Amino acid sequence: MSKISLGIIGGGQLGSLLCAAAKNINIETVIISDDEDSPAKHFADHFIYSKYDNKENLKKFSSMVDKITYEFENIPYGVLSKLNKVKKVDPHPEVIKVLQHRYSEKNFLIKNKIRITKFEKIVNESDIRKNRDLLPGILKTSTLGYDGKGQYKLRNLEDLDYLNISFDREFVLEKMVYIEKEISVVITRFSKDNYEIYEPIENLHEEQILKYSTIPAQINPSHFKKSKEWAKLISEELQYIGTLCVEFFIDIDQNLYVNEIAPRVHNSGHLTINTYNINQFENHIRAVCGLKKIKLKKICNAKMINIIGDEIIYYRNKKYNEKEFFYDYLKKQIKPKRKMGHLTIIENK
Ligand code: ADP
Ligand code: MG
Repeated sequence: MSKISLGIIGGGQLGSLLCAAAKNINIETVIISDDEDSPAKHFADHFIYSKYDNKENLKKFSSMVDKITYEFENIPYGVLSKLNKVKKVDPHPEVIKVLQHRYSEKNFLIKNKIRITKFEKIVNESDIRKNRDLLPGILKTSTLGYDGKGQYKLRNLEDLDYLNISFDREFVLEKMVYIEKEISVVITRFSKDNYEIYEPIENLHEEQILKYSTIPAQINPSHFKKSKEWAKLISEELQYIGTLCVEFFIDIDQNLYVNEIAPRVHNSGHLTINTYNINQFENHIRAVCGLKKIKLKKICNAKMINIIGDEIIYYRNKKYNEKEFFYDYLKKQIKPKRKMGHLTIIENK
C-alpha cells in the first residue's frame, strides 16, 4: 500500500509535533501555513506557504493529500467546508463552527448540561454596565483569542476608564472564578462510542499562559470521574474525530466547570509523548487517517514545563539526564510570552 499523505493546516509547534508523530508511523505530511517562517517547516515532508484563502494554493494542497486536519481552530469555516468537499477534513468543519466562537461554544455546553462560568455576550460598554453583577470578571474576545490574548481583567466598572477597550469586535464577560486548580482532559475519538482517553492533567498558568502540566493531577475521585465523563460527552455530541482537549476549573468550593474546549491536540497533552504508549499526536493522526485504535497504557508520571520567551537560551545550553526530554520548537524569533519549547521530566521509570 502506498503511504498515506496527511494535510495539516497551520505550522506552529502543534503542527511540528503532529509531523514528528506521523513520521513514526510512516505517514507523509503536507503543511500549509500563512507564516513563511513556520516552525513546522522543519518537520513536515512538504511545506506550502500561503494565505488560507488562496484558491490556487488550497487546490494544490488538497491534491497532494488523502486526508486533511488542522492544528489550530481559527481557520475560517468556509475554507474548511470547501476543502472538505475535495478531501475529508477531520475534525469535521461543523465542529469549528460551534467552537471557534466563545458564545456558541458556551451555548453548546449549556445545552449539554455542563457547568460553566456565568457569562454574557458583550458588544459595547453599556452591556458591561448592565451586567455589573458579573464583576469581578474577565472580558474575553469571542474569536481569535489564545494564551490570554484579547482578555481584560475587570475588577469593577472604574477599570473601564483606563483599559481603553475597543468594542470593534464581540466579547463575552465571564464572572471570575476563584480557582483552586485547573485541569484538562485529552481524549481521542475514533468513531461512535469508540475512544481513548488520557487521565486528567493538572495545569498551572502564569499570566494566563500555561506554565506547568503534571500527571497525576492531585484531585478528588469525583472530579477525576466527572471531568472524563464530560470530555466523553462533549466529543460524542460533536461527533468528533481526532484528539480534543477540555480545559476545566475547580473552584475553592470544589465545583467543577468547563472553561473551554480545544478542537485539536493541546499543550497540556505534550507530556503524553513521554508517558503513554501512544501520545496525543499519534492518536490524532490514527483517528483522522482511519487507522486502528490501540489501547492506551500509561508508562510513567511526569511534569512538563513550558519554555517561554528568552528562557529558551538557558534550556538550549543545558545538559539533560535520561529522565529529561527537551523539545525546541525551532522558532526563528524569540519573543516575550511566546512558547519556544518545552521540557518533560518523567518519574518512576
Ligand atoms: P485562552 O483561550 O487564552 O486559553 P482561557 O479562557 O483558557 O483563554 O483563559 C486563560 C487562563 O485565564 C485560564 O486558564 C485561567 O487561568 C484564566 N481564566 C480564564 N477565565 C477565567 C475565569 N472566568 N475566572 C478565573 N480565571 C480565568
Ligand atoms: Mg485556555
